[in-house]
Amino acid sequence: MSLSPERTVAELRELRELTGDENGAQRVAWTETWASARQWLREKVVPIGAEEEIDEAGNQWFTLPGASERALLIGGHIDSVPNGGWLDGCLNLLAGVEVLRRLADEGAPPLTVRLVNWADEEGARFGRSLFGSSAAAGSMTDQDELRGRRDADGVALPDAVAQHGVDLDRALEARKQLEGAAAYLELHIEQGPVLESLGLPLGVVLGTFGVERHLVTFRGQAAHAGSTPMDQRRDALAGAAKLELELREIAARVGRGAVCTMGGVVTKPGIVTSVVETAECLLDQRHLDATWLAEMLSNAEAASRKFAHEEGIEVEWQKIWSIEPIPFDDRLLALADEAVLEVSGTSHRLPSGPLHDAAEVARAGIPTVMLFVQSLRGLSHTKLEDTSDEHLELAVQALDRLTTKALEAFA
Ligand SMILES: [Zn+2]
Repeated sequence: MSLSPERTVAELRELRELTGDENGAQRVAWTETWASARQWLREKVVPIGAEEEIDEAGNQWFTLPGASERALLIGGHIDSVPNGGWLDGCLNLLAGVEVLRRLADEGAPPLTVRLVNWADEEGARFGRSLFGSSAAAGSMTDQDELRGRRDADGVALPDAVAQHGVDLDRALEARKQLEGAAAYLELHIEQGPVLESLGLPLGVVLGTFGVERHLVTFRGQAAHAGSTPMDQRRDALAGAAKLELELREIAARVGRGAVCTMGGVVTKPGIVTSVVETAECLLDQRHLDATWLAEMLSNAEAASRKFAHEEGIEVEWQKIWSIEPIPFDDRLLALADEAVLEVSGTSHRLPSGPLHDAAEVARAGIPTVMLFVQSLRGLSHTKLEDTSDEHLELAVQALDRLTTKALEAFA
């Protein structure tokens, strides 16, 4: 059977009909709709002859045996956010199914090929993203905390996953799935506006951003808005405002895709008749390079101290969360460039702002790369998420080419 990218687009529409409604995709992990989507996927793969296995973390694997037991992995996720888009996560899987069909028809590939449907990439119900892939990668270190998590209806995470055959205490046993993995490929919609703004259908993902998240608190003095002269104020919001604008300069100075966001400011007392005493700022900084990320962070810290001094206020930093940048494999990046070039005539490399299952696999030391296909208007996690049929078909072709190249290179 030769590759039929049109069939992938038709199957994506079929899945949308089956598991979506007028508000978008409803395949939230650990729900009935999610289970029915997994069953639907199973029925698509069975005729190909790939064998199914559900691992201890609920990941759904389909294995096509090759000449070697070492495996090339292709991954995606069929779960969605509530009212999600029709492509996020499932494009990867259905393109992978199409590649499996083509390979199965040509006889045993040089490496075993495994398609994996990661369980609960989105973390929509329990607020824990990358559940299945982090278990398989061995980086799930928060099982104690996960035991206490509940959804909006008060259902505990261990009970919800148990309904789908997963014992949280044994989830890390999924690690054995990555033994013998030679490489990992993932195709995904971009979920951002970069490829569309460049007029390109496809891109090669350099890796996922490192993230530094901090709570920055400026402290001044509450004082009467009427009786306190302008030159005698210690206004915490002035420090926050200066920092917010300086972030643009810092990101521009560091460059290479740097992004900084002040996602929220809470002021106290927060009344119209008082100078602001405290301003709590939520700061998010991202970069693909650890050195530049550290540089951005220290620039922001220095700027905040300078502004605090100018305003006669104090500043305090508290870390909320951070993750290191995860660069993808150089050899696979070169193969991905070739595949994209052959299919669309131009290749462009770009970092990924969002985290993906691929980041977990790469952290586990397995050579990894991702392809992005253009997202119209850069929208995702909404029913407005879309990509043209033409670009979806190019994406399937690019994944197929990349698979062939990886099978040769890693055999
Ligand atoms: Zn996704």
